[in-house]
Amino acid sequence: MPSNYGIADLTWRELEATIDETSTLLLPVGSTEQHGHHLPLGVDTYVPEAIADRVAERSSCLVAPSIPYGVSPHHTFKPGTVTVGSETFRRYVRDVCTSVGEWGIENVLLLNGHYLVQDPELEIVVRDLRVEDGMRAFHVPLVDLFDDVAREVRESELSFHASEFETSLMLALFPDLVHMDRAEATTAPDALPLTDYDALGENRVGWALSAEEMADLTPTGNLGDPTGATVETGERLVEAVVSRTAALVDALEGS
Ligand SMILES: [Zn+2]
Repeated sequence: MPSNYGIADLTWRELEATIDETSTLLLPVGSTEQHGHHLPLGVDTYVPEAIADRVAERSSCLVAPSIPYGVSPHHTFKPGTVTVGSETFRRYVRDVCTSVGEWGIENVLLLNGHYLVQDPELEIVVRDLRVEDGMRAFHVPLVDLFDDVAREVRESELSFHASEFETSLMLALFPDLVHMDRAEATTAPDALPLTDYDALGENRVGWALSAEEMADLTPTGNLGDPTGATVETGERLVEAVVSRTAALVDALEGS
């Protein structure tokens, strides 16, 4: 059944009518990249898509088709990873947003499902959209929206890539795509400061990792311990992200 908020399901006349009711668009931005032995390549796109659908069921907004390829040079040590250059990615996302602005969309939320690594590009896209196009644009990195809940529920010492949090999100949203029997913990060598590579670390240099560094850090592809991931943790993280994003949409639509 087509949704009444997913723009790819609408005719242009239906879209035109909907823009009289909402001027907010969610654009899921992901990546296609290796996620260890137990998760599929599409995690970073599937998760923000599912979040966007849940937000649109609660709050007045439209959902655009996703951007499935992102900046992922650090994962190219395993097959299945696609990476695009920083400048190409930034311009592509910017052009998509500028284009939707021409139909009357005023608010764009970039729901970013790729931890840390394409944050700098998306921050620049937001600034350009605000300063040059006069749009109200927001970078919404999912990891930041569930940060406090994740700190409360976490079981693992290290959770960066395809580990406790991403695996829990997938168990809650797409359980059929998770292979818990193949999940295994990887720990970074002692020589590296673990906090730098943790999704919740204070010193977030994880966004500047190289493929060589990642290959040294993890033989499986995940970085951290996914074995303690649960549906319950995933549901708490999903609820935090959905409710906070919906609150932002409500504020924008009310103002
Ligand atoms: Zn991921």
